[in-house]
Amino acid sequence: MTPAKKRILTGDRPTGRMHLGHYVGTMANRVRLQDDYECFFLVADLHMLTTRTELERLRLTNQNIRDVVLDNLSVGIDPERSVYFLQSLVPAISEMALIFGMLTTVPRLQRVPTLKEVMQDLEIEQPSFGLLGYPVLQAADILCVRANLVPVGKDQASHLEVTREIARRFNTMYGEVLPEPDTLIGDVPTLVGTDGQAKMSKSLDNAIYLTDDSKTVEQKVRGMYTDPNRIRADIPGRVEGNPVFIYHDAFNPNVEEVNDLKERYRQGKVGDVEVKRKLAAAINAFLDPIRERRARYEHNPRIVEEILSAGSARARQEAGDTLDRMKEAMGLKFI
Ligand code: ATP
Ligand code: MG
Repeated sequence: MTPAKKRILTGDRPTGRMHLGHYVGTMANRVRLQDDYECFFLVADLHMLTTRTELERLRLTNQNIRDVVLDNLSVGIDPERSVYFLQSLVPAISEMALIFGMLTTVPRLQRVPTLKEVMQDLEIEQPSFGLLGYPVLQAADILCVRANLVPVGKDQASHLEVTREIARRFNTMYGEVLPEPDTLIGDVPTLVGTDGQAKMSKSLDNAIYLTDDSKTVEQKVRGMYTDPNRIRADIPGRVEGNPVFIYHDAFNPNVEEVNDLKERYRQGKVGDVEVKRKLAAAINAFLDPIRERRARYEHNPRIVEEILSAGSARARQEAGDTLDRMKEAMGLKFI
């Protein structure tokens, strides 16, 4: 018998379409590892509620769920090989999160750096109980399928520390039930935005989406932030930390071309126009097969429902099983 494959769990909140930051941070690893691991992917609709509760915006959720799943399929996630589920269709996750909440202190969660960042970005004065509990709910997502590896962008690393602490505490108190998962950060841990801001993000309006058409990509790249000190093409420019070259490194497979552009940029021998034109061409070439796959999947109007319905049934089984084992270990199984 071949040994059972290790498991991956990761996911996305249905808050909009996926962008290049999502791709390099986590999606590329999902695609790369889908053969070697048993993969579980979730659409985290309950996590969406931590920062979004207004009815007008919740009305977009169904469309967003569709987009998030289609975007993942379009980069090459194979729904035959992976389990794709909707968080709210697996109620055991919520019960697990409630139990994990008893094993986590409030000050511990207040120390999670992303909490402060989200509060600042979204101008939230006081975190709700739910927002504070974001990493606890995430621990339940991950541990419900007993995942061993979690491919995520760098912003999520501090959350996974909480998951590991919860698993350790549970195992120490009640017995070895939950694996302690490892974090896998993408090749580009955090992709900068087109505006030069630290993180490409839907909410900052500095993203290139996987679904952007070629004209939109050209336009966004043309407007990209570069070296602000370089007011003329004959002034030597900075390559390091320059978003245009960070994107070239991430999306242009023609290393020779990229090195040549860097060299000439440093010497003041190439204009931004040429650097950007070549970048737009590279990003469009990268996106072309993704666009084609998306168009093929979109052809079947029920595909997302079918995938999530089958996947959620499977996840309910796994999560129910884990919750049973947890309750057994805790002496909470009455009948
Ligand atoms: P956005 O910041 O655009 O609103 P998000 O962070 O809300 O996106 P999530 O669904 O929370 O999106 O994140 C999905 C995954 O993508 C996470 O693993 C996250 O770390 C990763 N990710 C998001 N933005 C980036 C980025 N700019 N660079 C690298 N990884 C990213
Ligand atoms: Mg996020």
